[in-house]
Amino acid sequence: MTKGEDGTVKGISIYLFIDALGWDVVEPTGFLSDVLPNRRAVDMQFGYSSSAIPTILSGRQPDEHGHLGLFAWAPERSPFRRVARIMRLMRPRAVFNRPRVRGWISKAVKRALGITGYFQLYQMTPEKLPYVDYCEKRDLFVPGGMEGVANIADELVRAGVPHHISDWRRPDEENLAIGAKEIGMGTDFVFIYTAELDALRHKFAAPSVNPEVKAKLAWYRQRILRLVAAAKSTGRPWTLTVFSDHGMTPLTKTVDLKGAVEATGLVLGRDYGACYDSTLFRVTYLKPGARERIEAALAPFAGDGRWLTEGDERENGVWRRDRAFGDAIFLVKPGVQIVPSDMGLAPLAGMHGFDPRDVHSKAAVMSTAPIPDWVRGVKDYFRLMKAGFEVGGPGNN
Ligand SMILES: [Zn+2]
Repeated sequence: MTKGEDGTVKGISIYLFIDALGWDVVEPTGFLSDVLPNRRAVDMQFGYSSSAIPTILSGRQPDEHGHLGLFAWAPERSPFRRVARIMRLMRPRAVFNRPRVRGWISKAVKRALGITGYFQLYQMTPEKLPYVDYCEKRDLFVPGGMEGVANIADELVRAGVPHHISDWRRPDEENLAIGAKEIGMGTDFVFIYTAELDALRHKFAAPSVNPEVKAKLAWYRQRILRLVAAAKSTGRPWTLTVFSDHGMTPLTKTVDLKGAVEATGLVLGRDYGACYDSTLFRVTYLKPGARERIEAALAPFAGDGRWLTEGDERENGVWRRDRAFGDAIFLVKPGVQIVPSDMGLAPLAGMHGFDPRDVHSKAAVMSTAPIPDWVRGVKDYFRLMKAGFEVGGPGNN
């Protein structure tokens, strides 16, 4: 990145986010090492893409931006009460288990509630919906998209930098094609979003060189070379940085934490609140004694996971005084999946959302330019992107 005499940006900064392009794929395959020689493994943001994306866009962690898991136990502000009443009337109940029907209901709910962010009901039941809130009600990628926290779009508008940020609703092919066009037109800041590798790796976690994953990587390589060609065609200086949010951990076993908690006889909504993600069980205690009984119920799973300490929560950027993420969080060991959960009734071949220190958890950053030493986690991408256009900032190279 170079700056003109008046301090304005004269080069083109290109960022390509590839969801689930973890270090577990980048390192063994040497992905694009000829084009992007500067590279390193970085720490993922604890949580899922629903936490990583707001962290990438704002530089804040869940303790500040409030996104950990798509659903949160929050009966006092659930937007789903009316929708749940309507869903409870639907017959037969088995209809909810059909993916197509759930997709259709999700769309209807999204429209009815005016949600502009990514929305899926997953396995949320009409009985549980009135107790939960949804964290991604707004489109996070647009100016003002993150309540109370400035995102990269806000910063670009503030700095008056001509920019393009992908529409996350579009397929990868389109976003890469539109991105290449924007680069060719000389747009100063281009952020391209792609999510299809994540879906593929959930299906074929290991080995990382699975033929379908391999084919997708080859396809990304080809599209990235097009971005490079478009940048070169402008005759202006440019930098290209590709980054990801996590890798993918192969399935080793499943645990039925929900069954164990329900076997205590405690009543959801009266004695305790619960959100079951694929790797996290987040619990809110509503009655005295509930904590002891739930901890006892999970004691047999001591080999499969553990309760996070306050120190763990702080280290991972998820500790909140208001306990918005639950009074306690149980994290399963890498490879273990909570089944059933609010997110699915069956395990997937690969999953993320484990301990960030696990080898498969590591994200990757690679660039045409040297990467500043302080880029050590997904949470640092925001500062890296901002440094490229901030007047008087350190720049990328
Ligand atoms: Zn994923």
